[in-house]
Amino acid sequence: MIDDILQQEQLTKPDILRLLECTGEEEKKLFKRSDEVRKEYVGNKVYLRGLVEISNVCSKNCYYCGIRAGNRNVKRYTIPEADVLSAVEFAYNQGFGSMVFQSGEQSGNGFTNYVGNVLRGSMDLSEGTLGITLSCGEQSLDVYRYWKELGARRYLLRIEASNQNLYEKLHPMDDKHSYYNRLESLSNLRIAGYQVGTGIMIGLPFQTLENLADDLLFMQSQDIDMVGMGPYVLHRDTPLYEHRHHVFPLKDRINLSLKMIAILRILMKDINIASTTALSAIDPKGKILGLKAGANVIMPNITPSRYTSNYNLYDNKPFIDIYSNTSRLKFEEEIHEAGFSVGYGEWGDSPHFRKRMAQ
Ligand code: SAH
Ligand code: SF4
Repeated sequence: MIDDILQQEQLTKPDILRLLECTGEEEKKLFKRSDEVRKEYVGNKVYLRGLVEISNVCSKNCYYCGIRAGNRNVKRYTIPEADVLSAVEFAYNQGFGSMVFQSGEQSGNGFTNYVGNVLRGSMDLSEGTLGITLSCGEQSLDVYRYWKELGARRYLLRIEASNQNLYEKLHPMDDKHSYYNRLESLSNLRIAGYQVGTGIMIGLPFQTLENLADDLLFMQSQDIDMVGMGPYVLHRDTPLYEHRHHVFPLKDRINLSLKMIAILRILMKDINIASTTALSAIDPKGKILGLKAGANVIMPNITPSRYTSNYNLYDNKPFIDIYSNTSRLKFEEEIHEAGFSVGYGEWGDSPHFRKRMAQ
């Protein structure tokens, strides 16, 4: 039985594999344990981060992603600063303690300053009280430092696949998509003083359970403060779509993602784990399932609706209209029904980060 494994202080790779493979009663025990750990170490609060997809312009060509540079079917946009700030103001007035600004990967002064202005404006309108996360890809240490000075506190940069071989199957083999640059960026984010988040996609073609076990151990070895991971979802205008017959059904990818969240919670007890949008790709309640499995952060999409249809990282990307009072209240009700409360007006830094800073 897995009872002993679930009580251990440390998990080995064979332990993680055993947990990834469990089903039925054992799976229930896994989720029960991760729920206990979550309650004990991070509590019952869910932190909301208002997500604004500020631009879908991207210079990269990741094989899985719908907004890759090579996809000519995408109408490209960059949301004017004033419109981003209206969305920020809305979230702030709703009591959201923090925001996430995400975009395709772009470089150059124009983009650096654009993000800089959005940061400055957000700080001004909230009198410096909003906790801001960026997710704008690989940048130089100087750019990371500049954005940090202007108020960004956290940064999300998924490693996507911690196994180099798998990483290289998912990306073109060139300098722009180098596995080592990705690793270096993660370490630069740490040097620049961010709370660092990473993550992976689950259920990718070529990916094995062993890869997934290694991904979790990678996150632990990087001493990461927060994680966002979810199922890989196909997008028809991408090269990886060709391998669609070699991926598990989406339902299984979601189940595997929930187990990954549960095991990560047991492995890294005091970090922030996001219940990601891709978990809702079949069932709108997917995000709630993520919370029950061990996550404690949700990122409601507050991108102005005229842009959202152009930010399809994958097909059928789900969308809750958080601007509508009815759906916002319904969403909040679901969170309460699941036994959580919302941490309004709080940054919700992970206890892991606070401990790291205290040392
Ligand atoms: N350009 C930035 C941030 C935007 S993409 C970056 O790449 O870091 C944000 C995340 O979307 C990526 O890290 C990737 O993990 C996820 N993503 C892209 N395509 C996806 C797909 N088809 N299915 C699931 N997640 C996907
Ligand atoms: Fe661009 Fe990020 Fe998509 Fe890669 S995953 S193509 S960097 S938006």
